[in-house]
Amino acid sequence: MAAGRTRILVLGAGFGGMELCTTLSETLGEQVDVTLIDKSDHFVFGYSKLDIMFGHAAPDAVRLPYKNFVKPGVRLLRETVQSIDPTAKRVTTDKGTHEADILVVALGADYDFDATPGLKEVNEFYTVAGATVLRDVLPNFKNGRVIIGVCGAPYKCPPAPSECVLMLHDYLETRGVRANCDLTLIIPFGTPIPPSPETAKALLGEFAQRNIEWVPQRRVASIDASRKVAVLDDGSERPFDLFLGVPKHRAPKVVEDSGLAENGWVPVNPRTLATKFAGVYAVGDIANTGTPKAGLFAEGAAKAVASEIIAQLKGGEPHLYAGQGICYLEFGGGRVGRVDVDFFSGPAPTGSYHAPSLELRAGKQEFGASRRARWFGL
Ligand SMILES: Cc1cc2nc3c(=O)[nH]c(=O)nc-3n(C[C@H](O)[C@H](O)[C@H](O)COP(=O)(O)OP(=O)(O)OC[C@H]3O[C@@H](n4cnc5c(N)ncnc54)[C@H](O)[C@@H]3O)c2cc1C
Repeated sequence: MAAGRTRILVLGAGFGGMELCTTLSETLGEQVDVTLIDKSDHFVFGYSKLDIMFGHAAPDAVRLPYKNFVKPGVRLLRETVQSIDPTAKRVTTDKGTHEADILVVALGADYDFDATPGLKEVNEFYTVAGATVLRDVLPNFKNGRVIIGVCGAPYKCPPAPSECVLMLHDYLETRGVRANCDLTLIIPFGTPIPPSPETAKALLGEFAQRNIEWVPQRRVASIDASRKVAVLDDGSERPFDLFLGVPKHRAPKVVEDSGLAENGWVPVNPRTLATKFAGVYAVGDIANTGTPKAGLFAEGAAKAVASEIIAQLKGGEPHLYAGQGICYLEFGGGRVGRVDVDFFSGPAPTGSYHAPSLELRAGKQEFGASRRARWFGL
């Protein structure tokens, strides 16, 4: 490290961490000493799990190796964070200790399988491993009851369970077995997309048209795998032949143990992402901003922290996190819809709906391709 350069330590090379480091590198290059730490050797877009599960993409094809994330001024280290001292801005990993002038925690959300008894004995589609298992399970499923059930809120990408059930309908229809199957979606919200009544109405219309049962405001509390029954939070029971779960989410344990988290997530100023510790920020799924746990929101928060750091070092006015983002939604039949959500401009979150079309599929592809190019040069 060159003497005098500000040391910026970023934990987690996901949507938030990579966007932050890319923006810092573009603006400050070698003027700062940025270290980015991740335990994995590759990144996978969240939506790729749906592609894997339905056989649209092979697991190897969606892994984006970090060796291709090459940015001037940024060192990317493959290490596992084991403890964080936010007062000293000191982080210990399996390989050593790092000290920083500015610390940014972008470690995302973990899954808490133990919070839902029995969940480990059925299927889930929120990890690459779970989606890969399902890729091999689904072709043998010919008849019976399927439940797609959410085990707790908040969870990543709120539209994903709705997308999953519509894609599953298509999948079973294409194989000529849809008429032999019942599909049920259980989520803990009153509507599939709370900030956008128009999008929610469109999704509910698609469920009705496809004879998909929709169970709102309920979460799956436990699974009795021997009886093949899901027990909901009101005590009611739902039998299934195939259960596809969304596990309860939690902050990574290392963050809980650090004293950064309160009530499960890291409290921040929602516009600056500053934590209560001086010089420590949290971005993305780990931070409690009131905005959804989704990639574009992590990216927007990262841009705001980057602008704050750049303003500290070079002067100028930082810009605040706008709490705005777009979500592309698989509606089935190859069609993609879009909702543009805005959490901070008005008194309540709003969402504007763009009806599904094949053109919007091109938009979703461009969303992935532009990030692949920006972060990985691919
Ligand atoms: C099925 C599914 C579909 C989705 N679809 C979309 C979509 O269409 N659009 C969208 O915008 N978002 C989508 N998402 C959500 C999106 O993937 C996340 O919200 C986003 O990745 C959050 O970014 P992040 O930077 O906060 O965390 P992440 O991207 O999760 O990155 C966190 C990083 O921290 C690393 N890490 C964790 N613990 C440690 C440790 N102890 N030591 C070192 N490294 C560690 C992890 O390896 C990871 O790389 C989807 C998610 C799922 C599961």
